[in-house]
Amino acid sequence: MLDSIVIGGGPAGLSAALVLGRAGKRAVVFDDDNPRNKVTHESHSFLTRDGIHPSELKELGKLDILKYPTVSMEMQRVNEIHREKNHFQLITEKGDLYQTKKVLLATGLKDVFPKVKGLDKFYGSSLFSCPFCDGWEMRNQALVVISDNKNAAFQMGKKLSNWSKDIIVCTNGNQVLTEEQKRSFAKNGIQVLEEEIDELIGNNGQLQKIRFISGEEILREGGLVTVGLEQASPFAESLGCVMSDNGGIKTDGLGRTSIPGIYASGDATISTPSQLIMAAGEGNKVGAMIVSDLIDESFKL
Ligand SMILES: Cc1cc2nc3c(=O)[nH]c(=O)nc-3n(C[C@H](O)[C@H](O)[C@H](O)COP(=O)(O)OP(=O)(O)OC[C@H]3O[C@@H](n4cnc5c(N)ncnc54)[C@H](O)[C@@H]3O)c2cc1C
Repeated sequence: MLDSIVIGGGPAGLSAALVLGRAGKRAVVFDDDNPRNKVTHESHSFLTRDGIHPSELKELGKLDILKYPTVSMEMQRVNEIHREKNHFQLITEKGDLYQTKKVLLATGLKDVFPKVKGLDKFYGSSLFSCPFCDGWEMRNQALVVISDNKNAAFQMGKKLSNWSKDIIVCTNGNQVLTEEQKRSFAKNGIQVLEEEIDELIGNNGQLQKIRFISGEEILREGGLVTVGLEQASPFAESLGCVMSDNGGIKTDGLGRTSIPGIYASGDATISTPSQLIMAAGEGNKVGAMIVSDLIDESFKL
């Protein structure tokens, strides 16, 4: 019987595994290597690792956890989690069975994109979803915000104006901005185009222009897209964990979900800004919580 299984080998899961390993707990990390930021070439704002390739950060994390003999990592997907009386049984994609006292869901999120032809060619190279992650690299360029989201279009346009004064907000045929918001954009030199986009055009990941269905084209070098977010794995819902209104896994702030023995950290909780360093910090906190709970349980009379 393992002390803990960690599902997800991103910064949240690996940080938790490091704490588990340093407490001598028997843990296995499962990862199918499909993190949200896989499309990018550089990760920013992670102190001491600014600009690192996402896969290099992961490899460094793996080296850290594998120094501890009670921790191992399996590069395969977990397909099922079953709740038994006092433990959990997990089944992997290869059909392997594992028994564990605790499970940490560090499974992250997946992006849900607006339907725009060509978007996949540029996302992660010249189109991104977070100005704090990639705004600096696009500073002073001719930028676009593509958003069909009522709450996000105005916020993204405003935020991106911190990095460039040449911004066009494209709503792709949707009416998502109020007249007041449009006036505010106009006052700040931000143009709004509401026509439906036909296609994004460019080369080797570099956006060059946007063609609308009328045939009109505008030149743009990069920008932001507002994306929807979904759980990357359905375990929290299938186990019956209470979810937050924003779709994140609800925890007590220390990583415990509403199901005893199931913990969550990182992007999957949608409780902190979606940042690598935040996910790593959360993983550390929840790893310590799992260890503390295991210790407390061993003292129960
Ligand atoms: C395009 C883009 C660029 C970004 N750039 C930055 C940046 O520059 N700086 C920054 O701080 N943040 C950036 N982010 C945000 C950052 O990627 C996330 O905040 C961070 O990856 C969250 O870490 P996590 O460990 O919670 O989840 P993830 O890193 O997504 O890791 C989750 C892992 O769990 C695995 N997994 C899921 N389900 C299963 C399963 N059933 N079995 C096995 N494995 C499973 C996934 O394959 C994945 O490897 C960016 C995000 C995007 C989309």
